[in-house]
Amino acid sequence: MASPSLDEAHPGRFWRRLDDGAVECGLCPRLCRLREGQRGFCFVRANVDGAVALLTYGRTSGFGLDPIEKKPLNHFLPGTAVLSFGTAGCNLGCRFCQNWNLSKSRQMDRLAELATPETIAAAAQKLGCWSVAFTYNDPVIFAEYAMDVADACRAAGIATVAVTAGYMTDESRPEFYRHLDAANVDLKGFSEEFYERQCHGELAPVLETLIYLRQATSVWLEVTTLLIPGENDSDRELGEAADWFAANLGPDVPWHFTAFHPDYKLLDKPRTPPGTLARARAIARARGLRYVYTGNVRDPEGSSTWCPDCGERLIARDGYELRAWHLEVNRCAKCGFVIAGQFAEQPGHWGNRRLPVRLD
Ligand code: SF4
Repeated sequence: MASPSLDEAHPGRFWRRLDDGAVECGLCPRLCRLREGQRGFCFVRANVDGAVALLTYGRTSGFGLDPIEKKPLNHFLPGTAVLSFGTAGCNLGCRFCQNWNLSKSRQMDRLAELATPETIAAAAQKLGCWSVAFTYNDPVIFAEYAMDVADACRAAGIATVAVTAGYMTDESRPEFYRHLDAANVDLKGFSEEFYERQCHGELAPVLETLIYLRQATSVWLEVTTLLIPGENDSDRELGEAADWFAANLGPDVPWHFTAFHPDYKLLDKPRTPPGTLARARAIARARGLRYVYTGNVRDPEGSSTWCPDCGERLIARDGYELRAWHLEVNRCAKCGFVIAGQFAEQPGHWGNRRLPVRLD
């Protein structure tokens, strides 16, 4: 099949026509009602000739090679390079967004690099990447492009990873994740009040996405929570989140607590103290969660993978660099305990490098 034109509105999926002549996008819980020519909250989906179209199909903000641990995924092909890209727009409105120049971009002409799904898959192969990540902004809003890229990658033996806020509907979730191999989902807080005030969104659909991924798919799942001082880091909220996590996702889903820095509209909060990350990690581990990490700080203990059975340090990390490896494929080399995740026989050696790349 010929690749679709990259410069035109691409037919969207997950929408319906309403009685009053408008269309309703059903990709995310906002259910935007769009009249002819109107764009949705995410700015990249619009009513074009009476149908929902994706305006960013094939248009990217550029490509980079990252360590897979940067996504962050610590149990998915550790040490390997991932070809990363994003587009523009977002379906949440987080006041603390750390990629706001892309997620809030209204300038489509900044999406300079055009790439077909086949070009991306071939580039990942050529560059020695084991996976491609949809990241920098949320792939849910460019679902049609992400799914086509994922199919091209799968045909080439390359995995795909969604870095997402998980803000989707029951209708779109199964179709989207059928194409994907791994996901890191942001759990931004654990109250509806926080999601409404800080993200202009809702918590419930995110929890449904997490449950769906864990219980109804084989997509490898890790979760990230950015801890913002005074906003989502109380013992009570973290305890409630950890109780929910253990009950619904079980002990084997890795959870990353990462440090906030003031950005975008949330400039009046301090950086997250390392002690807060360590406290959150301890609360989660006390609930029986086996793989709890700290991120965005130098923390050899909190960034390492430990055997839940014998306590052996299985993967020692310094930043994103792997310093020690005591796994035999997916088993603890000391006691044989099976570690959840997808592991190759040998770890990758990509290290800390982050490199911009052009695909031509
Ligand atoms: S994906 Fe975009 S257009 Fe569709 S409902 Fe969500 S914000 Fe609205």
